[in-house]
Amino acid sequence: MTLATTLEELRAQLAGRLATPADPDYEQLRAVFYGGDLRPAAVARVANVDDIVAVIGFARATETELAVRGGGHSGAVHSTTDGGIVIDMRDLKRIEVDPEARTAWADAGLTAAEVNAKLAEHGLVIGFGDTGTVGIAGITLGGGVGYLVRKFGMTIDNLEAVELVTADGELITADAERHPDLFWALRGGGGNFGVATRFKYRLNELPQVTGGMLVQPATAETVAAFMAAAEAAPEELSAIVNVMNCPPLPFVAEEHHGSLVIFALLCFAGETDAGEAAMAPFRAVAEPLGDLVRPMTYPELFPPEEGPPTEEPADSSMVPGFAGLTLFTDPIGPDESALIVERLGWSDSPMRVAQLRVLGGAMARVAPEATAFAHRQRHVMVNVWAMYVGPTDRVVKEAWVRDLAAALRRGDDGAYVNFVNDEGPERVRAAYPGATWDRLAAVKARYDPGNLFHRNHNIDPAA
Ligand SMILES: Cc1cc2nc3c(=O)[nH]c(=O)nc-3n(C[C@H](O)[C@H](O)[C@H](O)COP(=O)(O)OP(=O)(O)OC[C@H]3O[C@@H](n4cnc5c(N)ncnc54)[C@H](O)[C@@H]3O)c2cc1C
Repeated sequence: MTLATTLEELRAQLAGRLATPADPDYEQLRAVFYGGDLRPAAVARVANVDDIVAVIGFARATETELAVRGGGHSGAVHSTTDGGIVIDMRDLKRIEVDPEARTAWADAGLTAAEVNAKLAEHGLVIGFGDTGTVGIAGITLGGGVGYLVRKFGMTIDNLEAVELVTADGELITADAERHPDLFWALRGGGGNFGVATRFKYRLNELPQVTGGMLVQPATAETVAAFMAAAEAAPEELSAIVNVMNCPPLPFVAEEHHGSLVIFALLCFAGETDAGEAAMAPFRAVAEPLGDLVRPMTYPELFPPEEGPPTEEPADSSMVPGFAGLTLFTDPIGPDESALIVERLGWSDSPMRVAQLRVLGGAMARVAPEATAFAHRQRHVMVNVWAMYVGPTDRVVKEAWVRDLAAALRRGDDGAYVNFVNDEGPERVRAAYPGATWDRLAAVKARYDPGNLFHRNHNIDPAA
C-alpha cells in the first residue's frame, strides 16, 4: 500500500469512509459524549485493519495529530482532536463467542451493552461498567470497574489477549506469551500503545442476577448504615451508591424529587434466594422511596440511554458541564457520611453527586504489580461530580468538588485512570504510582517511542 499524504489520497485508500467538515454528517460524526468544540480535520470510520494501518501511516507521514475513538465516553475528551484525524472504530462490531471454552473475541468498536446482549444468549457475562453505551475499548484498556467487580474482578482480570496495530503499522497479538510486557501495560495503561482492534475475554457463567435501583432518603445515619451494609455484603454483591438530589425518577413519588437520597445501583451475581437475602440489609436501612431490585438478566441492569446531545445552545459557553474528581479512600464510616450529607447541602448545583463504590473481593486478590492497575488494595472508590453552567459557575463547582474530594481522601492520592478528566500530568502519575509508571514508560518507549498515541492519559516516552 502506498502511503497517503493528503486526505484525498487517504479517502481513496480506505474501505471505510472519511468524513471532513464539508460532509453533511460531519457534525454528527465528530460528536463525543462530553461534547466540546474540538473539530478534527477528518474522521475515518475504519472498516478493517488495513484502514487503521493506512490512517496511522498518514498521521505519521504528515505529522497530523491522531485520536482514537471507541465508545466516545472519555471524560478528558481524548477520543477527538482539534485539527487532527480520528480513527473511529464504531463500525467494527464482530463478536465471536466460544461457549465451550467460555471465551469471546470482541471487536474494539462494540459497546458494553452490545457485548452484554450477545453473551446473554449463552448465559455468559463479562463485567464492564455501569453504562451500556461506554465503549469496551476505553473501559478495558483503563481497567473496568462495574457491577461484577467484587465477584469476577475488573474487566482486565478477565482479559486473555489484545490484538492491536502499533505505531509502526504492524498488527500484533499481546497475551501472556506474546509481548507479555505489552499485555501487562494494556491492562490499565489506556490507549498509549497502539490501536486495539479486538479483545479476547474469559467469560463467566451467570444466567441471572438480583439487582436494580434502590432509592432511600439520605441522612448521615442512612448513608453510614448503607455503606456498612455494602462492606458486610458477600462479594457476589457490588454496589454503586450515589448520594445525590433525587432525579425525576418515574418510580419515585414526585414529592421526593429533588430531596437528598441514596440512589443505589445494586447487583448480586448469584442464586436468587441468596440475592434476596443479600438485599435485606440494604432495604432495612430506611423505607425505600423506590425499589426496582428484582431477579433479572445481567443486561437488564442497563436501562436504555440517550446519546450525546446534537444541538447546542447558541452561546456555547453556556453548555452544561461537569466538574469531577475521582479518588480512593478507606471505609466510609459515620463521620465521612455526615460530611458527605453536609457538603451536598452546601452546593446549589442541580446535579451534585458523591458516588461511593466498595471494592475488594476478586479485584483485591490480584497482585498490584500483576497489571498496570495498581490500586488493588484500596477500599472504596469515590467519584464527586457537580454540574455547572457557564465559566463563572464552573469555578464555584470545581472548588466544591475539590474541597469535598480533599475531605474524603485517605491514604495515598491514587486515582483510577478511567475517571480522571483532563487534569494534568500529575494526575496521570497518581493513576500509575511508583514502579507501575517506570514499567509503563519502558513499554511505551519500546512500542511508541515517537508518542504518536498521545491523545490519552499520556505516558511520555521521553519523560
Ligand atoms: C456515563 C459514564 C459512565 C461510566 N461508568 C464507568 C464505570 O462504571 N466503570 C468504569 O470503569 N468506567 C466508567 N466510565 C469511564 C469509562 O470507562 C471511560 O471513560 C472509558 O475510557 C470510555 O471508553 P470509550 O471507548 O467509550 O471512550 P473513548 O472516548 O472512545 O476512548 C477513551 C480512551 O481510550 C482510547 N481508545 C478508545 N478506543 C481505543 C482503541 N480501539 N485502541 C486504543 N485506544 C483506544 C481513546 O483514545 C481514549 O484515550 C464511565 C464513563 C461515562 C461517561
